[in-house]
Amino acid sequence: MTLLADSGTPGTYTTVDPRDGSAIESYPVDDAAAVRAAVGRAREAAAWWAAQDHAGRKRVLLRWKSAIARDAASLAQTISRETGKPESDALLEVMLTLTHLDWAAKNAEGVLKRRKVHAGLMNYNQKASVGYEPYGVVGVIGPWNYPFYTPMGSISYALAAGNAVVFKPSELTPGTAVWIARKWAEVCDEPVLQAVTGDGATGAALVSSGVDKVAFTGSTRTAKKVMALCALSLTPLVAECGGKDALIVAADADLDAAASFIAFGAFGNAGQTCVGVERVYVDKTVADALIAKVVERGERVRVGGETATYGPMTLPSQTAVIAAHIGDALERGGTAALGGRESVGERFVEPVVLVDVPEDSDAVRHETFGPTVVINTVSSVDEAVQRANATDYGLGAAVFTRSAATGRRAAKQLRAGVVTINSVLGFAGIPALPFGGVKGSGFGRIHGADGLREFSTPKSVAHQTSKAALNLLTLERSHKDDHMVARMLPMLHGRAK
Ligand code: NAD
Repeated sequence: MTLLADSGTPGTYTTVDPRDGSAIESYPVDDAAAVRAAVGRAREAAAWWAAQDHAGRKRVLLRWKSAIARDAASLAQTISRETGKPESDALLEVMLTLTHLDWAAKNAEGVLKRRKVHAGLMNYNQKASVGYEPYGVVGVIGPWNYPFYTPMGSISYALAAGNAVVFKPSELTPGTAVWIARKWAEVCDEPVLQAVTGDGATGAALVSSGVDKVAFTGSTRTAKKVMALCALSLTPLVAECGGKDALIVAADADLDAAASFIAFGAFGNAGQTCVGVERVYVDKTVADALIAKVVERGERVRVGGETATYGPMTLPSQTAVIAAHIGDALERGGTAALGGRESVGERFVEPVVLVDVPEDSDAVRHETFGPTVVINTVSSVDEAVQRANATDYGLGAAVFTRSAATGRRAAKQLRAGVVTINSVLGFAGIPALPFGGVKGSGFGRIHGADGLREFSTPKSVAHQTSKAALNLLTLERSHKDDHMVARMLPMLHGRAK
């Protein structure tokens, strides 16, 4: 067990404030039996929750939302203490998350209610419809970097679709999960949402506990382990994994806007954002100007303290990865336009801008998850797209250009789950947009109508309302029927148009 601090009590562990390493609070390390018990309670609650109609679930979800909103300052404090991020960032996280909860609660009925579909000419005697039903119990496993926004992207949509949820947060941020579950208990007597705490072993126990679907958010490495476990019981999985997002700056881009968004996307939350900006491909004609503007913004960043732009690395061991990526980039001929190896402290990392870094170096190929950015030059947007796509990941991407046509073309060609034009992270507060990755960044979608359907199983119904003129579904088909099929087949399907 990756104990954060020894609690002194067997079966529990203590979280620490990443800003100074001081102890925060102790939580149980839930074992397989405890997880199974939670899933058992959830199963009963799921039957009750599914039996409520959409309007009933919406009422409870909106009550929960307003209870969270009224106590948002306390939630922001909890998030801030566990992650080290400034409270103002945590409050923004709460607001964005509630936008999604609100949307999921209000749109579930419209998206998931049973609807008619055309039965087709041959089946004029049938009424066909499709409806979406909850899975039952969804196991949600979350990361620590946005401990409310990220898992709630699964939890809100899973609950709105009629499922019960057992949530296993990151071992670094159990307090946020416990806070959310307590708030649920204030508005609903049934344990439709519960939190279990512990590390990877608790997460693995949840995956193996008989839940009906797993929603995992975390690293690609762990997603592979989770998927292997899911395979044993054929448990469906939605996997939201890491990224190495690229941002393209065309020659006609607004460089001030691009530089501001690069700084926000690369340095915000100390770079601990799955859809943060890790690579920039800029047209060579404007590269020097852009680099100067990004460096200028990086120099204004305040790391730690009362007026911090961002806090420490939440996971202290991440500093070793960041240092290794910077070292590799510099040894292979890249240069540091801002900071360098010396920017990586024990807990805090100052912003680093690396320039002309070889495309096969670690800083370009692997997720750094720190406040660093690589800026490489290209000759065209097409070349930038090609380089942006040459990675194992495909989570987000961005393009800056004054030409709508160039933006649209790049958005079509970029292999990513979400593309922003002239902003970064612009999608995060638009709940109708589905979110998720391709390639090593995962599969399946949270948010939006697709997110609601992700946590539902489609059920098709075909209702025969009168006898068919041409009775094909019988063991006693006549020669006349067969003859009719032989004549109709080329008429129905033989023409190309
Ligand atoms: P992680 O993979 O180390 O852990 C994620 C979760 O999985 C934690 O709760 C952990 O306890 C649990 N876990 C670990 N081993 C497990 C196992 N064998 N079985 C089941 N669960 C297990 O990731 P992290 O360090 O918490 O988060 C950072 C990563 O998450 C980064 O790669 C980041 O890009 C990614 N992330 C992705 C998104 C997204 O939406 N795509 C959002 C936020 C973070």
